[in-house]
Amino acid sequence: MSLYRDACVVLRVQKLGEADRIITLLSQRHGKIRGVAKGVRRTSSRFGARLEPFGHVDVQLYTGRTLDVITQVDTLDAFGVGLVEDYPRYTAACAVLETADRLTAEEGEPVLRLYLLVVGALRALADRQRDASLVLDAFLLRAMGFAGWAPAVTECARCGEPGPHQSFSVQAGGSVCPRCRPAGCSSPSRETLVLLDALTHGDWAEVDRTQQASRREASGLVAALLQWHLERQLRSLPLVERRTSAGAVDRLAAQVREVLAERQS
Ligand SMILES: [Zn+2]
Repeated sequence: MSLYRDACVVLRVQKLGEADRIITLLSQRHGKIRGVAKGVRRTSSRFGARLEPFGHVDVQLYTGRTLDVITQVDTLDAFGVGLVEDYPRYTAACAVLETADRLTAEEGEPVLRLYLLVVGALRALADRQRDASLVLDAFLLRAMGFAGWAPAVTECARCGEPGPHQSFSVQAGGSVCPRCRPAGCSSPSRETLVLLDALTHGDWAEVDRTQQASRREASGLVAALLQWHLERQLRSLPLVERRTSAGAVDRLAAQVREVLAERQS
């Protein structure tokens, strides 16, 4: 048996038998980890409460035969406290966790950049300083960058012609020049493209200058891009895995739609 520690975000919690739980963690150095927390569903459990979704925790585990076993948990940040009573922030945070879970198929593969993005997004949501859906959009754009799906915002996604261009195609991967323009493009406003670029680069001074209409339009494009990539990824999976993953993508799409609807009301 070998012991190891890592800083982690709790992505998901599932029941296991009478008293145990399987905890899915996004760790700083060990990628995604699925660990067993024994006895945590008893009320006397010392660390059960720390292993809830959104928790940022320092965890000690030992390597098990199938799943690793969690033996110690210390709280680093209790992000859940700032999220559970604010519905738009809560749904945005759920979408952050779900996306991180979807983008890390391979367990044990290091994903430091994604881990940092998740911690940053949860912290920004829990702080309640910035608009929840802008924080979510900034996270989703950067998470797509992590996955190799960053949209082209100024240059043409197909030929690289410098822009800005008028047309935008989710299938083509972002902005497209008049020559490469496929059928069924949308024409986002210039400000929406500026916003997408500012969110990607964390230029919040620029983000704050944008109008509500551009924010709505940017959110719609981000959601469409993410859904398109996730569904394409889904089609490449073996059939057995595909059914369970389809549920997760539907759930994520529903969460993103909910965040959008919240903003429109
Ligand atoms: Zn082009």
